Amino acid sequence: VRAFDAELSGRLEALSQTQLLRRLRAVDSPQGGKIILNGKRVLNFSSNDYLGLATHAKIKDAAARAIQKFGAGSGASRLISGSLEPHQELEACLADFKGTEAALVFSSGYATALGTITALVGRGDIVILDKLVHASIVDAARLSGAKLRVFAHNDLKDFEEILKWCQRERKTNAQTQILIVTESLFSMDGDFAPLPELAALKEKYGAWLMVDEAHATGLFGERRTGLCEQFQVSERVEIQMGTLGKAIGSAGGYIAGSRTLIDYLVNKARSFIFSTAPPPSASAAATAGIEVIRSAEGAERLKTLHARFRQFGEGKDIIYREPPSPIIPVMVGSEGAALELSNRLAARGIFVPAIRYPTVAKGSARLRVTFSSVHSAEDVNALLNGFQNSTLL
Ligand SMILES: *Cc1c(COP(=O)(O)O)cnc(C)c1O
Repeated sequence: VRAFDAELSGRLEALSQTQLLRRLRAVDSPQGGKIILNGKRVLNFSSNDYLGLATHAKIKDAAARAIQKFGAGSGASRLISGSLEPHQELEACLADFKGTEAALVFSSGYATALGTITALVGRGDIVILDKLVHASIVDAARLSGAKLRVFAHNDLKDFEEILKWCQRERKTNAQTQILIVTESLFSMDGDFAPLPELAALKEKYGAWLMVDEAHATGLFGERRTGLCEQFQVSERVEIQMGTLGKAIGSAGGYIAGSRTLIDYLVNKARSFIFSTAPPPSASAAATAGIEVIRSAEGAERLKTLHARFRQFGEGKDIIYREPPSPIIPVMVGSEGAALELSNRLAARGIFVPAIRYPTVAKGSARLRVTFSSVHSAEDVNALLNGFQNSTLL
């Protein structure tokens, strides 16, 4: 055991030398615009709880009621012990919200990507990914055994070159399926994928398109279902994915699509089959979260969120004049400099996490600012002042 720990300590030391060591921070408060971080009250610009629903009274009540009625745990996987009422309700609610025939819930977004991609493609197939997709998608693609091809971020020319290559591959094996996976709103860069163009090209080359709306669900489109709705491509996307732990305010992941797709995943997605069903409280909370998003209150919260990130964008021309989303990366470059800037802001009572490798590429470290409707205009002013007073920028 000593030799084992010594080996691991050496590896941790190597991370520390390159400014890549990570440590957990203690938070002694609920999520919100202000949190108690390592014992100190700070403004929080780190969360994906974009609409403040993680602590919303209706959502907490729904979780508490589900615990009273169905207990804390769900007992086993759903193929063994069945689907509880909160699971059934959530899937019906998601399908209705997304306008698809059916939906399937997983215990996390990570498990959703892993189970779905490995169920759909395997050896002999090809997965095409945008360079910046989330680690869960990269891991899933690798695990699937399919050939992996990566195109430069949002680069349609590079993307079509790969599709042309796929076409040649298909000449030798007509069975080859091609699965394209992108995020709609990129989690660390805050920009959009060109969904209509991706959809047109996937149709031209006979591929399937999977869109991860983890950060867009609840925030875009007239019905607030995501960017597939905003770009009017929902009907053309074979597999719509999302998470329940960001704007929706609970935890878990989902796939929305045809009844056939969902029936197939129930039979083939190993992270669904071999994993205990989500706790009833999480599913009930997610249903309540979607209900708030769909209500007039959801529209109101979204309006406030837009006002907050626009205010930041206007105050800082080094970023974007008009930020398209509540995720705003302040690019720094070196890992050490990003950490230093984050620490300086923290000393002023402002928490903006430094995002480093392996979450982003080496040398493209950044401060990732995320906004929530629970922030006030004064909170954003404090953030702007914090940035202005730091000598690095
Ligand atoms: C957060 C995230 C996931 C993983 O979801 P979890 O529910 O946190 O496991 C997957 N894809 C993207 C793009 C994400 O941002």
